[in-house]
Amino acid sequence: RPRVGVLSLQGDVREHARVLADLGADVELVRRPFELAAVEGLVIPGGESSVMDKLSRAFGMQQPVREAIAAGMPVYGTCAGLIMLADRITDGIEGQDTFGGLDVTVRRNAFGSQVDSFETDLDVPVLGEPPVHAVFIRAPSVEQTGEGVETLAALDDGRVVAVRSGALLGTSFHPEVTGEHRFHRLFLDTVRSA
Ligand code: GLN
Repeated sequence: RPRVGVLSLQGDVREHARVLADLGADVELVRRPFELAAVEGLVIPGGESSVMDKLSRAFGMQQPVREAIAAGMPVYGTCAGLIMLADRITDGIEGQDTFGGLDVTVRRNAFGSQVDSFETDLDVPVLGEPPVHAVFIRAPSVEQTGEGVETLAALDDGRVVAVRSGALLGTSFHPEVTGEHRFHRLFLDTVRSA
């Protein structure tokens, strides 16, 4: 059983823990460096990235997470979690920082205030059929991808909403709230082979 953590500073921790447990993982809630040291992979949930950033520093987690990522720990971020994985963000709040590791530029709240949330069926070739029913909630989009970053899914307008690079996986949307398990399975496969 892969031993994986969900970063539990803020956000939809429970939903992720549930999916991972359903898939047979041994799930730990990670809030402190010693808890991070005990897991082989980490999920960063959706929530509010500016708050998660502040809390990660308050809990002394920014550096340990950065080091874990640099050491090759598999990490999956959804929505705010994707923002936390991005090397560069636009429209962050003043002083907002990220863990980084994923060579992308991510725009926070990319779909504006008019369309706060929406759902769509998304073709994700690495996952095959059927398409993913994707829920976007004040979601970010990936505006630029660096070398070695694979686009896993884009909207019809071309905006990139799922990426992978090495052991890092990020989605703008929330598979954990729709019963979609395939992204978490992909993450667990990466944990097993890491
Ligand atoms: N807009 C949020 C942020 O900036 C992300 C929203 C979400 O995770 N559903 O972190």
